[in-house]
Amino acid sequence: MDAPRNLLDLTPADARATISAWVTASGLPAYRARQVEARLWQRPVGAWTEAMELPVLLRDQLEAAFPLARLATGAVQQSTDGTQKFLWELADGEKVESVLIPTASRRTLCISSQAGCALGCTFCATGRMGFRRNLAAWEIVAQVREIILRNPDDKPTNIVFMGMGEPLLNWPAVDTALTILNAPEGLGIGARHITVSTVGIVPGMERLAARPEQFRLAISLHSPRADQRLAIMPIEKKYPLREVLAAAANFARRITFEYVLIAGRNDTDDDAAILASLARKLGAHVNLLPLHPGGDPALVPTDGRGIRSFRDRLLDHGVEAVVRRSRGLDIDAACGQLHVKMARREPQVR
Ligand code: SAH
Ligand code: SF4
Repeated sequence: MDAPRNLLDLTPADARATISAWVTASGLPAYRARQVEARLWQRPVGAWTEAMELPVLLRDQLEAAFPLARLATGAVQQSTDGTQKFLWELADGEKVESVLIPTASRRTLCISSQAGCALGCTFCATGRMGFRRNLAAWEIVAQVREIILRNPDDKPTNIVFMGMGEPLLNWPAVDTALTILNAPEGLGIGARHITVSTVGIVPGMERLAARPEQFRLAISLHSPRADQRLAIMPIEKKYPLREVLAAAANFARRITFEYVLIAGRNDTDDDAAILASLARKLGAHVNLLPLHPGGDPALVPTDGRGIRSFRDRLLDHGVEAVVRRSRGLDIDAACGQLHVKMARREPQVR
């Protein structure tokens, strides 16, 4: 017997080919392949035993040949504003998180691409954890699949790669994950509803740009000046602002700048004016994010008035800018926060 294979780690096209070959080799009628395939992403089951339309023998054979890999649910927290945060436990004990943010018209799921992150942005809780490992493609998309398994009505309409990790430093897995998320035989989420967020990993930006689908790109800029940016984002040394902006200019689709406002670090009127000129050149929107706790405790959030005046300055310069409402603050739903909290609590538990 062949070793079990993980169909959830394959693009839908590759999974289809694998299933079809197996169905043929098993002497089963061809229509079984479509029935099996539908249970990966379109009408997902947690285990083959739940696929009641299949004969018991076939379910058992599938369980042996293609066991469906799962993420264990470590914790689910519900915010008073409807935001839900999920902590997933991976088979090797690593933990990652996803945040589901419902609004009137959409359900946005923020997913992780790595356990931890190597890039050490000073304001970021995940950065403080350091790098643990890359997620496999299936572990990235399973964050969506698990939520659908819990409740099909919760299926996200929008996906943002803004959880833990730097997606463009895990390109092969993110590449496959994007295909699964978008493909009609996969989760069928429109490319314009899928956003990859990056600090500006230039080769990764080029790879994303080369894909034909209209995936969205968000660039975590956080400062319009190289020296100031370097002080909060060590990656500036490897991929300087200038090169990141050049790669952004080559990205044919609309981009967004993410900008966390930190008092005295990147929030002056001059910063806004320079940011505005960069954004105008690229036709970029700016998302302003209030600084959440979890990063370097020495960093102080810009206050509400400062945030609004920074936004107004961008608007005055003709740049589309919005202040992203903080969601799920009561459950620490910002990047990496739950995990860090749990890790801190561990010694007391023992
Ligand atoms: N590594 C990628 C994607 C994950 S981070 C990136 O940095 O773009 C997703 C977003 O959360 C980024 O825009 C990041 O700047 C933001 N973020 C990180 N720490 C934050 C904090 N303490 N407060 C507010 N936003 C934060
Ligand atoms: Fe990594 Fe993004 Fe956090 Fe920076 S902001 S440390 S790149 S996850």
